[in-house]
Amino acid sequence: MKITSLTSCTGCSACYSVCVKSAITMTENSEGFLYPRIDASKCIECGKCEKVCPILHTEQAHKPLNVYAAINPNEEIRRESSSGGIFTMLAEFILDKGGVVFGARFNEQWEVVHDYTETKDGLAPFRGSKYVQSNVGETFQQAKAFLSQGRKVMYTGTPCQIAGLRRFLGKEYGNLLTVDVVCHGVPSPLVWRDYLRSVTSNKIEQITSVKFRVKSTGWKNYSVKISGQEGNPFVNEPYRQNLFMQLFLKDFCLRPSCHTCPAKSGKSGSDLTIADYWGINDPDWDDDRGTSLILVQSCQGQQLLDSCDIPKKQTNYEDAFIHNPSIEKNVVKNKFITPFWQQYHNDGLNNIQSLLNKTKPSIVKRLYRYLRSLI
Ligand SMILES: Cc1cc2nc3c(=O)[nH]c(=O)nc-3n(C[C@H](O)[C@H](O)[C@H](O)COP(=O)(O)OP(=O)(O)OC[C@H]3O[C@@H](n4cnc5c(N)ncnc54)[C@H](O)[C@@H]3O)c2cc1C
Repeated sequence: MKITSLTSCTGCSACYSVCVKSAITMTENSEGFLYPRIDASKCIECGKCEKVCPILHTEQAHKPLNVYAAINPNEEIRRESSSGGIFTMLAEFILDKGGVVFGARFNEQWEVVHDYTETKDGLAPFRGSKYVQSNVGETFQQAKAFLSQGRKVMYTGTPCQIAGLRRFLGKEYGNLLTVDVVCHGVPSPLVWRDYLRSVTSNKIEQITSVKFRVKSTGWKNYSVKISGQEGNPFVNEPYRQNLFMQLFLKDFCLRPSCHTCPAKSGKSGSDLTIADYWGINDPDWDDDRGTSLILVQSCQGQQLLDSCDIPKKQTNYEDAFIHNPSIEKNVVKNKFITPFWQQYHNDGLNNIQSLLNKTKPSIVKRLYRYLRSLI
C-alpha cells in the first residue's frame, strides 16, 4: 500500500482510523510528528488507507459563501477564547440539541490531544488555541459511532484534520457540522515537550495551566502564560518575547506538510472556518478583546449559523484575506529550518535564541515597515 509521502503527509490519521486489521500505527518521527507505519504482516491490501488519504484525493479550492465578523456577548468566555469566542457559541448550540462536540485539549502531560464532550462544562478545556499539532487518536471512529446513532456531532480542528475526517467518513451526514480554524501551521509536539521541560526545570507535573493567548495585554498584543502551583507562573510574557511562539510564528518547527497544505482555501470540506478577524476596520467590532472571523463554506454551515443567536456583521472576503493570508497561503519554507533541526538534535533548545536572532529584519526593513504602518 502506498500512502502519501513523508513531506506531504499531514498526519491526519484517516488511514490509521480506517484500517480494520490494525495494520497501521501512528509513529513519532525524529521531529516529533506522527506518521503512519504499515505492518506488512497484518496488511491485507484492501486499499482502504489509500482511498481515505486526503493528499491522494484533494478537493477543489473555493471561496466562502459569506463572511462575517462576530463576537460572543459572554465576556468571560470571550476572554478565555483566542478570538471572539465563536467556537463556544457554535458548540453550545450543538450541545443544546443533544449533540456531541469534538475539539483539542491538553492531556495530563500537557500534550495536545483531540477528545469529545457532551456537556457545556466540558467545553472549557477545548477553549483557546493550542499552537501544537494535536493527536486525533481514536476520535474519528468515535465521531462516526455518534453519527450512526443519529446524534448531532460538531468536529473542530485544523483543515487537514477535517479533510481527514471527511474522507474517513466517506459520505455526507446531515447531523455533522465540521468547523476548521484558519491555520498558520502546526508546530512539533516534541519541541513543545522539550520547551515545557526547559521552562519548568523538568517539573512538568507542577504546571496548573497553559494559555497561549492571554488577553490581559490585549487581543492583538497577547501574552503566553504557563502557571505553576500557588499561582506562580513559569512563563508570563508577551508573545513576541516568548521562545516557543517565536519558533512557531517564524516557521522553524512546523510540520513539513504545512508548507504545501492540501486543505486550505475551503479544500478541507468544512462547513464553517473560524479565525481571528485581524484588520477588522470597524470600531464597533474591535475593542481589542477579540473578534472572530467566520467564513461560511457550505449551505449546511450557513443554516446552522443562521439558527444560532450569534451577534455578527457581514463583511467581504477580500478585506478579511488581506489581513489573514493563512486563509489561502502556505507559509514559505525558510532557510533556517535545516540549521534549526541540526542544532536542536545536537543541543536541544539551548542557544536556539541566537539562531532566532538571525531572523530579525534589518534596520532598513524595520524602518520601511514602520513607515508603511503609518500610512
Ligand atoms: C495551530 C493553529 C494555528 C492557527 N493559525 C491561525 C492563523 O494563522 N490565523 C488566524 O486567524 N487564526 C489562526 N488560528 C485560529 C485561532 O487561533 C482561533 O483558534 C480561532 O479563531 C477560534 O477562536 P475562538 O475564539 O472562536 O475559539 P477558541 O476557544 O479560541 O478556539 C478553540 C477551537 O480551536 C481548536 N483548537 C485549539 N487548538 C487546536 C489544535 N492544536 N489543533 C486543532 N484544533 C485546535 C479547538 O478544538 C476549538 O475548536 C490557528 C489555530 C491553531 C490551533
